[in-house]
Amino acid sequence: MLEPRRIEIAATPPRSRVIAADLCVVGAGAAGVTAAVEAARQGLRVCLIDGLPQIGGQSVNGLIGTLCGFYSTGDAPYQLTYGFASDVLADLRQAGAISHRPGRRSYVALYDEAELAAIYARHLVRAGVEVVLGAVLTEVTREGDRIGALLAQTRYGPVSVTATTYVDASGDAVVAALAGLPLQQPDVPVYGTTMFSVAGVRTPVPLRAAIIARLEQVAEAYGLTRKDGFVFAFPARDLCLVNLTHYDTPLDAVAMTARALDAHHTIARVMDFLRGEFPDAFGAARVQSVGQPGVRQTRGIVAQRCLTTAEVRAGIRPDDAVGRCAWPIEFHGSAEGVHWEEFPDGHLTWIPLSAMIARDVRNLVAAGRCIDAEPFALGAVRVIGPCMAMGAAAAAAARLANGDLHAVTPGNVQAIVADNLQRTDPAIV
Ligand SMILES: Cc1cc2nc3c(=O)[nH]c(=O)nc-3n(C[C@H](O)[C@H](O)[C@H](O)COP(=O)(O)OP(=O)(O)OC[C@H]3O[C@@H](n4cnc5c(N)ncnc54)[C@H](O)[C@@H]3O)c2cc1C
Repeated sequence: MLEPRRIEIAATPPRSRVIAADLCVVGAGAAGVTAAVEAARQGLRVCLIDGLPQIGGQSVNGLIGTLCGFYSTGDAPYQLTYGFASDVLADLRQAGAISHRPGRRSYVALYDEAELAAIYARHLVRAGVEVVLGAVLTEVTREGDRIGALLAQTRYGPVSVTATTYVDASGDAVVAALAGLPLQQPDVPVYGTTMFSVAGVRTPVPLRAAIIARLEQVAEAYGLTRKDGFVFAFPARDLCLVNLTHYDTPLDAVAMTARALDAHHTIARVMDFLRGEFPDAFGAARVQSVGQPGVRQTRGIVAQRCLTTAEVRAGIRPDDAVGRCAWPIEFHGSAEGVHWEEFPDGHLTWIPLSAMIARDVRNLVAAGRCIDAEPFALGAVRVIGPCMAMGAAAAAAARLANGDLHAVTPGNVQAIVADNLQRTDPAIV
């Protein structure tokens, strides 16, 4: 090869990009990727933007580890969400990157996050979605009762997107916030977690009950506050994932950074605890990788209505249901522990379209963990299965809306996502 030469170039201003689309999705987590792929498959020109330089939001970057909410509960669990969700399950299976295990009278699926990222990437490209990563949304222009355009900043220059309809899949209702729309949030902090993986663990890994029992007795001695959490083994990957840190997740850059940094100290204390109390399993264990700070619940849009905890508890199926899931109420409302509210076999939580469509503008729909729901209710619908169901419903609504989601007939959305409301294929495990 010829030796390359050094060349001088003139200073160039950052290159600005302008994108026009039928649908712009903000947030490339499970909800946003699903919305983008499903909408593009239905013929919409779709732009998907995310502030991270990597695809997949928390489902890839948070070391989440298990897909939850995909199957019903009972003796014969069936799959609840189809379409792109089925493709993801099938592709993970084909790659040998998923293994189901029984839990909570259903199944959760351990998955390989690198393979999930590859699957997201492949389907986004195949569907023709214009994806812009590393693009932090900074401005939203509002024209009366419509969102007009979005502006995001990347390290390479600004990107502006004008679309007919917008999906807020940012988890924090960022589109709604920047548009000056009303928002809602729990009146208590909800705790997040930095997940981490551990290598060099000798089996058997202690059961969750044993870990919790020891934490009850010795957490303070190790400088730990959380007493309810777990460690689960990925036998095929020869590692464990640990879910034992807890911190509030304020929507403030400086405060949130402090939480992220402090999590590393907590991880060291968790390792001291595991090594000290379970030396047979963890005596030679070491931290292998650390996920991005995991944020469970912050702020949501104000939609046409709110999904209530009473509805979730009663398993009420609203007239405009567009998705379903089976997961307990899981609410991380204290530093010490988790509020779990289990439901009987066969219980389903139904997600209404009206809890996703913004009340005060006509072309914004939320999907994922920033829909309008009471705090406990969101605790039942924010796992990955229902996030994908919401993404699919948002895509269907956007396709029908032609810019006016308030004019969409829920029955027409239900017809598009009918599988997610009716099919009962037995779980393939
Ligand atoms: C520690 C932890 C453990 C969990 N365990 C499980 C589990 O075992 N199984 C399960 O199914 N679920 C689990 N969950 C829940 C689940 O992972 C999330 O609720 C779900 O992945 C949320 O998906 P989402 O698409 O709504 O949001 P996210 O995955 O949070 O995606 C939102 C995206 O929006 C982007 N964004 C935000 N603001 C901006 C901005 N201003 N500009 C541009 N982009 C922006 C973010 O970068 C992000 O990629 C867990 C959650 C946590 C925190």
